Amino acid sequence: MATPSRPDHRLLIVLTLGIAFHLSLGAVTARSQQADLSFLTTAAEESDFNETTRYDQAVAFVDVAVAQHPLLHATTMGYTTEGRAIPLVIFGDVADASPESVRSSGKLVVYVQGNIHAGEVCRKEAVLMIIRDLASGLHDNWAESMVILLAPIYNADGNERVSLYNRPRQNGPYAGMGQRPNAQGLDLNRDHMKVKSPEARSFIRMMKEYDPYVLMDLHTTNGSQHAYHLTYSPPLNPNTEAGIDSFLREELLPAVTDQIRSTHGWEYYFYGNFPFRSGSEPGWYTFDHRPRFNNNYIGLRNRMAILSEAYAYATFRDRVMGTKYFVEEILEFSFKNTERIIALVDEADRTSIVGDELAVAAEPKRSDNKVSILMGRTINKKNPFSGELIRERIDFAEVQEMYEYGSFTATETSRVPSSYFFSQDTYGLKDYLDIHGVKYTELAATRTRMVEGFRIDSTKVAETPFQQINQRKLYGAWIQEEREFEAGTIEIKMGQPLSRLAFYLLDPRSDDGLLNWAGLDRALNGALDGTGTYPIYRSVD
Ligand SMILES: [Zn+2]
Repeated sequence: MATPSRPDHRLLIVLTLGIAFHLSLGAVTARSQQADLSFLTTAAEESDFNETTRYDQAVAFVDVAVAQHPLLHATTMGYTTEGRAIPLVIFGDVADASPESVRSSGKLVVYVQGNIHAGEVCRKEAVLMIIRDLASGLHDNWAESMVILLAPIYNADGNERVSLYNRPRQNGPYAGMGQRPNAQGLDLNRDHMKVKSPEARSFIRMMKEYDPYVLMDLHTTNGSQHAYHLTYSPPLNPNTEAGIDSFLREELLPAVTDQIRSTHGWEYYFYGNFPFRSGSEPGWYTFDHRPRFNNNYIGLRNRMAILSEAYAYATFRDRVMGTKYFVEEILEFSFKNTERIIALVDEADRTSIVGDELAVAAEPKRSDNKVSILMGRTINKKNPFSGELIRERIDFAEVQEMYEYGSFTATETSRVPSSYFFSQDTYGLKDYLDIHGVKYTELAATRTRMVEGFRIDSTKVAETPFQQINQRKLYGAWIQEEREFEAGTIEIKMGQPLSRLAFYLLDPRSDDGLLNWAGLDRALNGALDGTGTYPIYRSVD
């Protein structure tokens, strides 16, 4: 797919300069020294961090940057609701930007995503600055063992809906920022299971095609007042493969935190909030285990996900720089641990979960010991252009000891079977499996098998919609029966790499499954009177 190029006038000049610069360099394959790309600036830099970069400016920036260096390629990863191509920059020693070239390189593929929430704009600016660094030759060594995919402006439609009144209290950019949802009004960071947006479809397609092993999703938090410049999270679903979970929690994230403290003097830590409800036990609570969230979804696909949350009350410039430092250090750590990461992910893909009792619902788990949390403070300020009240962090930190609720534990479990079965004409189900890339086969002949069906006792539908869907819950029990399956019946064999995701999508009691998102409502037709059976059967082994 071609990258659209619709630069505005300001960047058109830059674009022309860029091409001239490129031609004067001639064809280079590697840089002996860093190129000076100071002519290539983001809208944030040009406006002393009052503004954020618009879509056309980002596309033009990317075009100029990519033209500077043979290791950079530009492509797109799909389309937004309003038809904007989502830019994807590829840095690596590959023939072109195609998934085939990237995958056949045998190198570690890392993906960096900015702007899923388009009011949290510091990530887009940081990713553009990293693209410029890559274009200048600053990190050529990374191409020895990695291919880096960068999507600076994922929620491009939301980015263009700039208002000075979006994200109240956030400390800039004062000339406004985009909105949280996409053009459909959907929160793209709740859309990874139900996949109702073209953006989420594009993202999952990118995952299937390029298969990145490490993925970063960059945000800004306006939650509790703490003293960290940035907080982060690994995947939080308790079904996340153990090797991936411990590598991120105990190795990568602590190492990156230490590096940033010694290089930049800033404190980073695991994401959390103080309890919002009075009467709750004091503690540092992370957010949610459900795979509708990007990091949790990626974890259930056996890939390494890192959520980054810059601190909304730090200045816009500090948020951009804090995010940039974080991404750089993760890339550097990934570069130094390439073989280890590849081995861990491949091992996770080979690990069978058949027969395991895994979580279908979960609750936050308290740490064994209290941890030291840095409490911070802010002062009130006014946006100089809108007069709206905003908050600004001050350099203040107070250590408080408290329990941490940084991971989740199962409150309900279910058995992972060796196979699931469902009728060929179960409405919509094959489409969902295809979107996510879950593999299935068709029975060649009619077969009778001992299976378990989920007998439905009752169901509950939420009165108010969430993300435009009235969510459903099912109650009942698994009953063993001998059942005849016609030729053409779909079988999902669970000895496949995406089994953790398939389990969470398909189990009737999963708190984030297709049933939950009303994805099986038409297939359930007539089964909800207290005598019906869930349309997906599971093997007894
Ligand atoms: Zn966010």
